[in-house]
Amino acid sequence: MKAPQYGDMPAEDFRKYGHELVDMMADYFENIETYPVLAQVKPGDIKKQIPDAPPETGEDFSEALKDIQRIIMPGVTQWNHPNFHAYFASTASAPGILADLVSSSFNANGMLWKSCPASTELEGQVVGWLRQMIGLDDKFWGIIYDTASVSTMHAIAAARESVAGYKIREKGLTGSGVPPLRLYTSEHAHSSVEKGTLALGMGLEGTRKIKTDNEFKMIPAELENAIQEDITKGFLPFCVVATLGTTSITSIDPVEEIAAICKKYNLWLHIDGAYGGVASIVPEMRHLIKGCEYADSFVVNPHKWLFVPFDLSVLYTSKPEALKMAFSLVAEYLKTAEDSSVQNLMDYGVQLGRRFRSLKLWFVIRYFGRQGLAERLREHMRLAKEFGEWIDSHSVFERMAPVPLSAVCFRAAPSKEMSVEELNTFNEKLMNEINSTGKVFISHTVLNGKFTLRFVVSGLRTEKKHVDIAKNIFDNVLSKIKY
Ligand code: PLP
Repeated sequence: MKAPQYGDMPAEDFRKYGHELVDMMADYFENIETYPVLAQVKPGDIKKQIPDAPPETGEDFSEALKDIQRIIMPGVTQWNHPNFHAYFASTASAPGILADLVSSSFNANGMLWKSCPASTELEGQVVGWLRQMIGLDDKFWGIIYDTASVSTMHAIAAARESVAGYKIREKGLTGSGVPPLRLYTSEHAHSSVEKGTLALGMGLEGTRKIKTDNEFKMIPAELENAIQEDITKGFLPFCVVATLGTTSITSIDPVEEIAAICKKYNLWLHIDGAYGGVASIVPEMRHLIKGCEYADSFVVNPHKWLFVPFDLSVLYTSKPEALKMAFSLVAEYLKTAEDSSVQNLMDYGVQLGRRFRSLKLWFVIRYFGRQGLAERLREHMRLAKEFGEWIDSHSVFERMAPVPLSAVCFRAAPSKEMSVEELNTFNEKLMNEINSTGKVFISHTVLNGKFTLRFVVSGLRTEKKHVDIAKNIFDNVLSKIKY
């Protein structure tokens, strides 16, 4: 059906196409394993099928639905595929997808309490649920943003706002006379930390990278030395970012020792638990959250390893007033009669408009329950450990890092005669050939100059049989590459 002359699609057409679309997506999930995990298209393949100019008059909506299969699907890398083992898999669960439908239908903007009371109040409650699930201290208040990069940037802004004695909010970094500010994080921290100091006017030199030990964890003594050295050079240390599950190897920084240093030098401590933060939902992994009670802020991404469709990141802070000081700016037209008795979430960040994101976290937690989520995470960690043991017992593969969570770093070392460069080239080729099978998708990192393959188990649909499929493919491809 085409659009009527005025107004939206009639309800009966919405119902018809809605049912068709849900059927199409249910089929997609039922047949997910038949799609290549990594999109097998070349740059430009999708673009050339989409007209350069928009249609002058409306088209039959069923044509657009057909084009999902015909044009779009071949260019989709299947993040929901059980053999997606690259990056950190972000898988969409059915309850989360359905919640997104509700959220888009309401299309409510939660900038103010008044602009959608349900959005603000559900968000407060549901981030409280997640906080309890991961065992974070109840002094933490939470807010939803889109991504961990944005959450971390907001945490750094709050840390900067907490630097006493300068009017940074009023006068900015140049006008306030504040010495060059310095943030510390491990050499394995995510690039979002540096992007945070970059975005907030402190430049790349605003971040100083701290060395890690042989398990890729930040070395506290190196942190303290760096802080002391910077103080003597005229820098003003203001923040440390520790990571709970680094991107490349999922290493876990020693939070308690880092927290003690932060206390000594009066520095804001932010924890990046974007991926690893959810692991403490599993009771026997509760120890991971130890020390986080001393932090000032903590980020966790339910869109990474908690089956909430992209995007949803939660920033917790024990100092929401610092966040508010950093960002609150209330225009006349945004003032409401309830301002003194409610929280207007626009006050706690750069953005004004806010999607009703809490619905999908709410649906996911209610559908699976804490226990159901814990069981899934536990199984992922078990499968990763098992895969790590397979690597350890393999005659060609070798493990490159411990496996504290659900990612395994490894490489092939087919001959003792090969140089580091030859091994790097070999492993890059191996990864590309594995990925071009379309049956499994892995990614890489470089550890101490060595090209390293990463195998992550964090997909909602990944079971033991999928890990076995991956092992067979690895062996098969390995046997075909000459060295
Ligand atoms: N922090 C860590 C440890 C990550 O691994 C990532 C992404 O993989 C991020 C932050 C950034 O996450 P986002 O894509 O939500 O910005």
